[in-house]
Amino acid sequence: MKDIKHFNATSINDAAAKLAEAGSAPIAGGTDLVTILRAMVNPNSPDTIVNLKTIPDMAYIREEGDALKIGALATLSAIAASSVVRGKWAALAQAAHKVGSPQLRNAGTIGGNICQETRCWYYRTEHNYFACLKKNQQGLCYALTGDNRYHSIFGATNGCVCVNPSDTAPALVAFGATIKTNKRDIAAADFFDVKVAPNKSAMTVLGQDEIVTEISVPAPASGAKSAFVKFALRRAIDFPIVNCAAVIGGGSASIVLNAVAGKPRKVTAAEQSIAGKTINEANAAAAAEQAATGTLSIGKNKYMIQLAKAMVKKAILACA
Ligand SMILES: Cc1cc2nc3c(=O)[nH]c(=O)nc-3n(C[C@H](O)[C@H](O)[C@H](O)COP(=O)(O)OP(=O)(O)OC[C@H]3O[C@@H](n4cnc5c(N)ncnc54)[C@H](O)[C@@H]3O)c2cc1C
Repeated sequence: MKDIKHFNATSINDAAAKLAEAGSAPIAGGTDLVTILRAMVNPNSPDTIVNLKTIPDMAYIREEGDALKIGALATLSAIAASSVVRGKWAALAQAAHKVGSPQLRNAGTIGGNICQETRCWYYRTEHNYFACLKKNQQGLCYALTGDNRYHSIFGATNGCVCVNPSDTAPALVAFGATIKTNKRDIAAADFFDVKVAPNKSAMTVLGQDEIVTEISVPAPASGAKSAFVKFALRRAIDFPIVNCAAVIGGGSASIVLNAVAGKPRKVTAAEQSIAGKTINEANAAAAAEQAATGTLSIGKNKYMIQLAKAMVKKAILACA
């Protein structure tokens, strides 16, 4: 691993100014970034990491008016334990609780969770062993013809079939959250991307000197219920194979899958199928069938289509 300079930011502006310099990257809990740096995943690893945790008052969780406001440095364990979040925004608390292990949730932040890199094994090989499309902007995505058992069932984003592994992302999209940065407000549904470029915050639309400062989550409609479900190979310390968040009630339904594509995927046909109907086994199963609309197996990942349907059904039933 190469030498890296560590810069303790004292304010958001201080962090942004340092991040404007080439070769720098923000760090919060470090549970994702440090593994990337240690493995020298990228051909041009950052020279400087900008510590956001030294910025005061960025770890709050509070209800303001009818919205939940979460500072980007709030830890996943604080979100999972918060009585405010567990009340109106249950799916978000459940999602935070499902991340990794207690140690990872104590160190990991919500900002880092939504900005984390993909787990694609071609992308994450040590010392850039697979100089994949996502890092090098050329060639074919290795997963298209290689081992794609954990890859997109909704086609490629910018030629790459990696998936977004975040547990909290689908809950934020389902609730219609807004991601606030030092530069702008971004709807959670528009926040995610698959950048095919070296050295970028590569699973979001953020610019080089842009950091997430706050997440604002509107209250769901009166009478609506929410739920988050996750399928992983192990019950603890494991990334989702497929996860799903649902917010249903008051005549509407918002259902979002993740780990199935480069960005969290709103399953509109399933939403339309269940909105305004009684939640029961038959209606949930019919809506879950609709969740497969637009899916495509690329070889070894056909089972994920069945899993996605099962997760949608389970999430809908959990909102009864
Ligand atoms: C063994 C293991 C298991 C895991 N299991 C899961 C899991 O089940 N589910 C899951 O979702 N994740 C999982 N993770 C990933 C990770 O632990 C979490 O996503 C965690 O929330 C990341 O937060 P962090 O603060 O540690 O991020 P960091 O590692 O500090 O940062 C992650 C990325 O986000 C950027 N970043 C951080 N904060 C900001 C900000 N405010 N603005 C802009 N960019 C920012 C960093 O530059 C970096 O690119 C796991 C990780 C490990 C090592």
